[in-house]
Amino acid sequence: MKLSRRRFVASTALAVAGATALPAGRGAERAPRTKAGERPLIVSTWDFGRAANDAALQVLLAGGTILDAVEQGIWVTESAGNPSVGLSGGPNAAGVVQLDACIMSGPGHRAGSVAALEGIRHPISAARRVMEKTPHVMLVGEGARMFALEEGLESVDPHSEERYEAWRQKRAATKRPAPLPAANRKNHDTIALLVLAADGNLAGGCSTSGLSGKLPGRVGDSPIIGSGLYVDNDVGAAGATGLGENIMRYCGSFLVVEFMRRGLPPDEACRETIRRIARQDPKGFDLSINFVALDKHGRSGAAGTGAGFPFAVTTRTRSLVLPSLAVGPRTPAAGGAKRQ
Ligand code: ASP
Repeated sequence: MKLSRRRFVASTALAVAGATALPAGRGAERAPRTKAGERPLIVSTWDFGRAANDAALQVLLAGGTILDAVEQGIWVTESAGNPSVGLSGGPNAAGVVQLDACIMSGPGHRAGSVAALEGIRHPISAARRVMEKTPHVMLVGEGARMFALEEGLESVDPHSEERYEAWRQKRAATKRPAPLPAANRKNHDTIALLVLAADGNLAGGCSTSGLSGKLPGRVGDSPIIGSGLYVDNDVGAAGATGLGENIMRYCGSFLVVEFMRRGLPPDEACRETIRRIARQDPKGFDLSINFVALDKHGRSGAAGTGAGFPFAVTTRTRSLVLPSLAVGPRTPAAGGAKRQ
């Protein structure tokens, strides 16, 4: 599903005018930065985000709202047979796919979210409806599914009851239940998609099936406002992908936006967030966390632990997959950034 680092660097480095080619086999300590001022600007996680960005751009160009662009962009990934987003995503330990999603609107600072949602084709639409049609921000589990069904959202039968019952019986019959799988780069991913519209407004959305093999009911960072996504219409927006447990304990996306508020460009804000978390976390940089961000000025960037990760950037004139900054123990701190 993902391009190998070598392939995506090769396929994108030449495409970015003025970008410095990245040294093979090393993390991108300096990744290409997009120029300020381009609107609309759409940024999302991973190489699969590019198709979502393209759809979001078309919505905007056709006169759709910024929230339509976020929602319909994310529909593309939710419908694409992706192994970690939508109903094609990885199931939990009982064999049921539980989906997490959220949406946030810069104007009005509104948000909607669903978690552990079963059998709904487009969880991002459920999240949007929570925001627009209820006085709440977040619905979970069966309540979220009931709401989505009442709203007429497309659904399938997830066969939850039989699967949970079979899982319970199997666990009861097993002396030592199988350990939960550790996160690796194959069993989780998320689309977080951020939009800066031509009028300067911001919005974002996030959708995932989370960590496959997770305990039923496990919720990651993705639907948590401030963790998997955060939008501040005066500053910028950020989204996350990676091991949710390592993001949600630090309100990661909120922190990225706060670093941008203090003047850091998006890529450095993402990097400083990772560095700050790694300083505090017993795992150090071994966290599997990645952030993508854009700011009010039309700049975008991303950073991730390990080798970093690809992210997609789309404007009227180009749609690219770029390497993020790679952040590790030897990455220099951002120029001028104060340690927090
Ligand atoms: N953040 C997601 C979660 O922990 C998974 C991912 O983005 O890789 O559920």
